[in-house]
Amino acid sequence: MLDTLIYIIVFVYGLLIGSFLNVCIYRIPLGKTIVKGRSYCPSCNALIPWYCNIPLFSYLFLRGRCLRCRQRISPVYPAVELLNALLYLAVLHVYGPTPAFLFLAALFSLLVVIAFIDLEHQIIPDGLVITILVLGACHAIYQVLALGTPWHLFAIGFLAASVPLFILGLVYEGGMGGGDIKLMAAAGVFIGWKLILLSLFIGALYAGVFSLLLVLSKKGSMKTAVPFGPFLSLGIVTCTLAGNRILAWYLGLF
Ligand SMILES: [Zn+2]
Repeated sequence: MLDTLIYIIVFVYGLLIGSFLNVCIYRIPLGKTIVKGRSYCPSCNALIPWYCNIPLFSYLFLRGRCLRCRQRISPVYPAVELLNALLYLAVLHVYGPTPAFLFLAALFSLLVVIAFIDLEHQIIPDGLVITILVLGACHAIYQVLALGTPWHLFAIGFLAASVPLFILGLVYEGGMGGGDIKLMAAAGVFIGWKLILLSLFIGALYAGVFSLLLVLSKKGSMKTAVPFGPFLSLGIVTCTLAGNRILAWYLGLF
């Protein structure tokens, strides 16, 4: 009963934060503030009344159109809200209602913003990466002091995936973006060197499968530029949730 209640609260919390993430995804690349200003319709500029700004439900209730100009509202908005809420439920399921939940939920939200901005604009804003680094350092301090995790796990995490990516960028011209390298350094401090290395492999695997599907479906060629950030983010999410089980399974093969 209490468990169900916690899951419902976390789901609603995830939807509300998800709504704020939409503001971040839209405004950060434009250099606009994310702390001030009401939401408005991008088509008719009408301010959105509070009852049309309830995450997920308003979209369903308005059937995906602006109340005033009837212009289509992008389904990406409710998708981001739902995705963020589901990610929070997944963190809760794996880590329980612990301080780690708060840290990792914040990490996942930042990754959602990064993935969608990178998809649209092919950039990873430094401010988001620095936020991951600062939160990651706090999470590492919590892990070391409260749970006795060895500190070097996180210190090496800064370099474990970022250095290989950096070298790859030197070898392959126009290969790796600087944003990807910085992201993997910051996220490495957050989840430690083992999981960030695995995230790099799994992220590359996702990107490879995606490129293959692009070629097979004739929607692109091997030369189609695919931003790496969303796949790295997906890799980090996968490894934060299941990385230790994947590692145990892999090491059990030998
Ligand atoms: Zn409108």
